[in-house]
Amino acid sequence: PPGHAGLAVSELAVNYGPVRALRGVSLRVPPGSIVAVLGANGAGKTTLLRAISGTLRFHRGSVGGGAISWGGTRLSGVSAPAVVARGVTQVPEGRRVFARMTVEENLRAGALGARGGKKAVAAAREEVLGLFPVLAERAHQRAGLLSGGEQQMLAIGRALMARPAMLLLDEPTLGLAPLMAARIAETIKEINARGTSVLLIEQNVALALSLASHAYVLEVGEVVLYGPTADLAAGDEVRRRYLGIA
Ligand code: ATP
Repeated sequence: PPGHAGLAVSELAVNYGPVRALRGVSLRVPPGSIVAVLGANGAGKTTLLRAISGTLRFHRGSVGGGAISWGGTRLSGVSAPAVVARGVTQVPEGRRVFARMTVEENLRAGALGARGGKKAVAAAREEVLGLFPVLAERAHQRAGLLSGGEQQMLAIGRALMARPAMLLLDEPTLGLAPLMAARIAETIKEINARGTSVLLIEQNVALALSLASHAYVLEVGEVVLYGPTADLAAGDEVRRRYLGIA
């Protein structure tokens, strides 16, 4: 929506006990955009998403400074369910679904604490099944029996059941075959085209640069590079260090 401030992270510091995982990270996701965060393993990408979604405490992490806001309202210090209620939903790393529950039950779980009433939830369900028809075909199967790609679809679909204005995606194509990764990428584009802002963590740099308008590169808890993805893709540093192109 016009005038919405989007997501703003400023000078965020996060610690796991003595481990300083984020050391003053600032970034913005303008409303309606896709922004990517790149970086090697351990750079702090997942930690950043946990801090935004309020799930840090479940991993024994704590915010040591800085602020997070969404649309001008403070998110820092807000509980995970309250963050979802404010319109920001994380799709966890490792396409985590409730393996023993059916596809349908997983989707219903995603609607718990969602914004809006029954009608809104039914509409969200229709939208999710429209985006991922395979989830309708497998509605009564246990989620643990789905393929890796289908589980990722379900993880995204479950998050969408909360009708988020902003989606936090943690390595959605990790471990997927190229064709499936491309399908997930197309869906992320579609979700964004329908109005949801996206903060995307991706180890597939080429894919991330093709989806996002802007990207940040994290290195040991700090932003070392930022820019429009077109500039980054053309720049020597990203090509050499992250795309493996000399
Ligand atoms: P990956 O791609 O491997 O998930 P990442 O960029 O997401 O990497 P984080 O998982 O955010 O990085 O980790 C950042 C730093 O914090 C690393 O040094 C990691 O070892 C440490 N860390 C992450 N989670 C915890 C935890 N629960 N307890 C202690 N240290 C942690």
